[in-house]
Amino acid sequence: AGLVIALDGTSGSGKSSTSRGVAARLGLAYLDTGAQFRAVTWWLLQQGVDVHDTTRVAALADTPRLVSGTDPGAPTITVDGEDVSGPIRSEAVNAAVSPVSAVPEVRARLLALQRAAISEALATGRGIVVEGRDIGSVVWPAAPVKVYLHADASARAARRATEEGGSDPSATEQSLLARDAIDSTRATAPLVRADGAVEIDTTPFTLDEVVGQVVGLAEA
Ligand code: C5P
Repeated sequence: AGLVIALDGTSGSGKSSTSRGVAARLGLAYLDTGAQFRAVTWWLLQQGVDVHDTTRVAALADTPRLVSGTDPGAPTITVDGEDVSGPIRSEAVNAAVSPVSAVPEVRARLLALQRAAISEALATGRGIVVEGRDIGSVVWPAAPVKVYLHADASARAARRATEEGGSDPSATEQSLLARDAIDSTRATAPLVRADGAVEIDTTPFTLDEVVGQVVGLAEA
C-alpha cells in the first residue's frame, strides 16, 4: 500500500516547495489542494461573480470542471480544459481565495476530488504528498505522516516576494497575513495543527533541510 503524507501550514511557509521536493525524493505523486481552491476562485472571478456572495458561490461550486496533474516535477491544473497554473497565482486570486474557501459547498466539492485523487494514488501503490490547510485534520486524518509547517511572517513574505520576482515584501506580508486570518478562523475546516502532526518552523532552515526532515519522518 502507498504512503500518504499530509502537509499543512500557513501561507508562504514553504509547503509547495517542500511537498514537491519530498514527493520527488520519495517517488510519490503530489496534490496541491490550494491550487484547486485558487482554480475555483479564478473561474468565479472570470464569471464576474462577487466572491462575497456566498449563496451564489455555493450554487456554482460544482460547475467548473477541474483536473489536477500530480507530477511533482510539473504540477498543473486545468479548468474546463484550460491550463490556469499561471493565472491562479495573480493578486486578484490571492485576495479572493480565502472567502471562497470558507464556503462549505466549495469545500465539500473539493474534498470529494481530493479523496478521489488520494484513493487513486494509493490504488497504484505509489502514494502521494498532499498539501493544504486541512489535509491532516479533515481530508485524510489517517495519513501516517502529518506535518504542520510555519515560519515567521517576515521570512514568508521575503521568500514569496522573491518567488514573485521582486514584489513588495510588506504588501506580500499583509496579503499572507490576511489569508491566514480568514483561513484560521472560518467555521468549516479551519487551518489547525492536526492531531499527530509534527510541527516544523522553517524560518531558520533551507528548503533542502526541511525536505530532509520530512523525508526522515516518512522513513522513520
Ligand atoms: O496553499 P495556497 O496558499 O495556494 O492556498 C490558497 C488558499 O486556498 C488558502 O489561503 C486557503 O484559503 C485555501 N485552502 C484551503 N484549504 C486547503 C488548501 C487551500 O482552504 N486545503
